[in-house]
Amino acid sequence: MTEKKPAADAPFWRTKSLDQMSDAEWESLCDGCGRCCLVKLEEEIEGEDGPGPIHYTSVGCRLLLEDTCRCADYPNRQSRVPDCVRLTPQTVRTIRWLPPTCGYRLVAERRDLPWWHPLVSGNPETVHEAGVSARGRVAVNEDDIPDDQSVDFIVTWPTRWPRGAKGPVPPPQILRDRRAREAAPGVDKPPRRSYSPPRK
Ligand code: SF4
Ligand code: SF4
Repeated sequence: MTEKKPAADAPFWRTKSLDQMSDAEWESLCDGCGRCCLVKLEEEIEGEDGPGPIHYTSVGCRLLLEDTCRCADYPNRQSRVPDCVRLTPQTVRTIRWLPPTCGYRLVAERRDLPWWHPLVSGNPETVHEAGVSARGRVAVNEDDIPDDQSVDFIVTWPTRWPRGAKGPVPPPQILRDRRAREAAPGVDKPPRRSYSPPRK
């Protein structure tokens, strides 16, 4: 079977590999979900040598801004947080904990971006509207608890797709909620925003 070629006017994430992207294209692939900025724990299994399972927690990195899910100091993140992993085409292919919704992982797996990705929707808020982001789900900042308490905050939602988040168009319930919000008295219809590359 021959592979279907993308249309000539197809967006860059369908036509380019991760290695072929410009810096701006690369940065724009981040949907701003903040999932990867939650503290992760690797479980050690007694008697087993290999790497253990990795668990997400609802503990936020010290630089994670809980409301926007972005990094408070993105340009200097690695000097401020030495274990912050810089994503590259190589690391995207090898690290085990990238969430299934992550734009980098989707493109590396040759899958399309879903309706809520800011590159598709043109609106950085849709990652929150779809329930993909960490907004409202960060229980505590890592600086506010001892390291050994992180285990009490293990969560599984960052390893899953929220209902209605897969696919190219928003599900009817999301559209109904959006219309109701926009029709509420005193709420102006939000302008469709042009997209600028997000920061974690
Ligand atoms: S899209 Fe990927 S890299 Fe960007 S914040 Fe979400 S999980 Fe992290
Ligand atoms: S990008 Fe910023 S908030 Fe996210 S893990 Fe790195 S330092 Fe923390």
